[in-house]
Amino acid sequence: MSEVLTTPAVLILLGPPGAGKGTQARMLEERFGLIQLSTGDLLRAAVAEGSPAGLAAKAVMETGGLVSDEIVLAILKDRMAKPDVQAGVILDGFPRTAGQAAALDGLLAESGQDVTAAISLEVDDEAMIDRVAGRFTCAHCGEGYHDTHKKTAKAGTCDKCGGTEFKRRADDNAETARERLRAYHAETAPLIAHYDKLGVLRTVDAMGSIAGVAKALRTIVKSATE
Ligand SMILES: [Zn+2]
Repeated sequence: MSEVLTTPAVLILLGPPGAGKGTQARMLEERFGLIQLSTGDLLRAAVAEGSPAGLAAKAVMETGGLVSDEIVLAILKDRMAKPDVQAGVILDGFPRTAGQAAALDGLLAESGQDVTAAISLEVDDEAMIDRVAGRFTCAHCGEGYHDTHKKTAKAGTCDKCGGTEFKRRADDNAETARERLRAYHAETAPLIAHYDKLGVLRTVDAMGSIAGVAKALRTIVKSATE
């Protein structure tokens, strides 16, 4: 089922790896006809299209450099002027810093817009670490298990195929998960502060069901665009 928003939305979705950001963004796209714009996709498309900003990005990337905020903003501006984004956008991977957020505010202001909502998917860090850390899979059939949440019925034997060898991914450990979350919080803290100050920060408890989180997001998006 799709719905039409009263005014176009510019959404920023924030959430650590494992919070379900990708899934929720896709559901918002389907529901409201929004388009998710990720920095990587934007750059690739602009380079392929050969727009002036795309060519500038290409020149920088060919030398192995980082594309400047100015170029990214120019590409974003071109993209947001296209007719398929009339319902609005979900930005992914940009802004990453408070400086980029301020630059985005300036760009939107040129066309009388502003950020509709910056939505932070909040997770319980320890629960997330526990979820990731205990994962293992059957080496034979690939069935997924978890040390505490989904054990094999018979210790050391796969329920599905009877295999007795299991694999653990090297990065599925508590230390790596904790480090990823630490990096996420450090990176997003300035953005959260920026949008909180503007009064457009919203938070959603992302530990609930996918459907429950999706419902909370829809409510936020609808009330923010009224
Ligand atoms: Zn198996």
